[in-house]
Amino acid sequence: MSAPDHTLHVPCARCGATNRIPAARAGDDPVCGRCGAALLDGEPVELSDANFERVAARSDLPVLVDFWAPWCGPCGQMAPQFAQAAAAMKGRALFVKVNSDDNPNTATRFGIRSIPTLVKLDHGREVARVAGARPAGQIIQFAGG
Ligand SMILES: [Zn+2]
Repeated sequence: MSAPDHTLHVPCARCGATNRIPAARAGDDPVCGRCGAALLDGEPVELSDANFERVAARSDLPVLVDFWAPWCGPCGQMAPQFAQAAAAMKGRALFVKVNSDDNPNTATRFGIRSIPTLVKLDHGREVARVAGARPAGQIIQFAGG
């Protein structure tokens, strides 16, 4: 992962294209070769039932998913903490938000029973999860930072 010539597959959340990014450049604001969208700009990306699998499963970087919903108070409280963690982990992990009300297939697939729930994925496979709102420091730690 730290070899300078190592290449990462980084899927684009906007168009679904899988980009190849030199690992050493992952923190240098890479953009999608097809549509020009920022790939790893340190902002959480919203995914849906339509594109979750394509994006989450193809990422060589760890993916951290925040299952949330607009009516959920603790989710709203955690949102800025999640965004802060995403900025701190820029280029090292992909931070994803899934609205569990709008995307029931993804929420059901992961058996989400309470929100917020954070799920960490390695190439689409769940490796860890934690339920309940967390401060940014704990989210960074959970993401592997
Ligand atoms: Zn794109």
